[in-house]
Amino acid sequence: MRKREFLKTAGILAVGSLILPLSACADEQKNTATEENQEDGPLSFSLPDLPYATNALAPVIDQKTMEIHHGKHHAGYVRKLNAALEGKPIATEAKSLVDLLGRLEDKEAHLAVRRNGGGHFNHSLFWNIMKPNAGAAPTGKLADAINTAFGDFDTFKSNFIEAALGRFGSGWAWLCVGDNNQLFITDTPNQDNPLMKNLVKETGTPIFGIDVWEHAYYLNYQNERKRYVESFFKVANWEEVAKRMTEAMG
Ligand code: MN
Repeated sequence: MRKREFLKTAGILAVGSLILPLSACADEQKNTATEENQEDGPLSFSLPDLPYATNALAPVIDQKTMEIHHGKHHAGYVRKLNAALEGKPIATEAKSLVDLLGRLEDKEAHLAVRRNGGGHFNHSLFWNIMKPNAGAAPTGKLADAINTAFGDFDTFKSNFIEAALGRFGSGWAWLCVGDNNQLFITDTPNQDNPLMKNLVKETGTPIFGIDVWEHAYYLNYQNERKRYVESFFKVANWEEVAKRMTEAMG
C-alpha cells in the first residue's frame, strides 16, 4: 500500500514535489524540480493536499467549489491517470509527469493519459499559484519579466483575461516561460497544456494559469466567466509564480 503510506506521511508538500512520481517523493523531499528520475518502476501518482483550507480563498473561490474541484475532479484525474498508465510502455519510459506530458502524441492510445495527466498537472499547479489574502502586483524579477514581455502589469492582466475569456468551452489560459526565456500568454482546450509539445500550438513551461472549465466557477459565478477571471487576480500567489519562473529559466 505504497500510496496510502505516502499520503499518511507526506502532509503538505512543496508544490513541485506534488507532481513527482510517488517513488521519488517517498525517498526524500530533496528536489522540487519535476524532472527527477523514477528509480523503481512505472509512474504512479497521488492526489496532493491543498496548501490551504477549502474555505481559505472565499469569497473569490467558495468552499463548496474547492471541495468538489479538488476532492472529486482532481481526485478523478489522478485515479484515471493511474489506470490509464497501467501496463503502458510510456509509464516506464517517462521519468516524471512533465516528461510524460512531453512524450504524448496525437493518437488514441495516449488520449486517457493526455486528459488525465494534463488534469493532474494543471490542477496541481492551479492550487499552488493561488493563496488567501493575496492580490498585490508581482515584484522583483517577475515584475521585470512581465514588463519586458507585455509593457506593464495592467497590459499583461488584460491580455491574460482576454485569453481566458476567448477560450471557447473548457480549457485553461496560461502565463508561460518560452524557449528564449521570454514570458508569453497562451490558452489550451480541455486539459491540454503547453508542456505537451507534440500537441499544442505554443509550447513552454506554464508558471501561472486559470481553469476556465465551468466546474471551476459555476456555483459561485454561474455563467459570468468574466467576473470569475477578474476576481481570480485577488488570490494570485505571485511569490509562487516567481519561484516557478526562476526554476523554468534555469
Ligand atoms: Mn478543473
